[in-house]
Amino acid sequence: MRVAIFENDGKKSQKVSKELYQKLVDAHIPIDNDDPEIVITVGGDGTLLAAFRNYQDNLQNIRFVGVHTGHLGFYTDWRDDEIDDLVISLQSDNKQSINYPLLDVKVEYYDAEPEKFLALNESTLKRINNTMVTDVYIGDQLFEKFRGDGLCISTPTGSTAYNKSVGGAVIHPGLESLQMAEIASINNRVFRTLSSPVIVASNDWITLKPTQSGDFIFSVDQEIYHNKQIKMIKYRVAKERICFAKYRHNDFWKRVNEAFIGSDYED
Ligand code: NAP
Repeated sequence: MRVAIFENDGKKSQKVSKELYQKLVDAHIPIDNDDPEIVITVGGDGTLLAAFRNYQDNLQNIRFVGVHTGHLGFYTDWRDDEIDDLVISLQSDNKQSINYPLLDVKVEYYDAEPEKFLALNESTLKRINNTMVTDVYIGDQLFEKFRGDGLCISTPTGSTAYNKSVGGAVIHPGLESLQMAEIASINNRVFRTLSSPVIVASNDWITLKPTQSGDFIFSVDQEIYHNKQIKMIKYRVAKERICFAKYRHNDFWKRVNEAFIGSDYED
């Protein structure tokens, strides 16, 4: 089993990553950052997002493991003081895994070739200085004309990230779906949107057709693209999935409780 270590620039992450490297060497576990079967991230959920982007062309061969150097995150099952236990789990690895849905993003431009992206958390389309106006289709049906700051389309695992900040629902990652949440929609007697998040099933898709071009901010997870001449964006549940090595059971709702409520939670 070949293992890669992917850490962020933080001092603590660098230190933990060095320790982990040495423990893997001592345990005779091969380290291969170019062609790994397991990618261990050291940092936070943001670090896992960066590793996902780095290795997304080889998702079918990779399982991810997240080590958090702060609080436990949504993609990180291990704390930095547990790397001895993690190495033991790697030694007794029997390919146990769990996988989650991703977001397939296809963009057409007025002035460039189409592009395809994969998102682990979400993709957003925003216009900050002026109102963003876009037709929103669900499947082939025109659903609404959105006016406001923007729209956030997220995966179930991304539902606890940006989506939650803009009033979206938290979705259990076992549900293969995608969610569209509004960012500051304009609603009055003239303009109307649904004004609540929409969750669509895996056989459906959402298309945005902005009615003006230019000065958009388009994002895919951590990547942000400015001033793209966007003609259309089609979102659907991707064929690809992200796979995590599952060495221990971390209950999703317990994680949500710990992250956002912090009260004692009975298993
Ligand atoms: P960042 O601005 O440095 O951090 C964003 C925060 O979101 C971090 O605390 C990160 O956790 C957390 N996070 C990332 N994925 C999460 C998930 N699936 N569930 C719950 N929390 C999550 O940005 P970043 O670390 O590069 O991450 C990019 C992400 O930031 C985007 O995908 C987007 O979801 C999020 N974001 C949120 C807002 C907002 O809430 N208003 C605005 C822009 C972007 P860690 O501390 O563990 O890394």
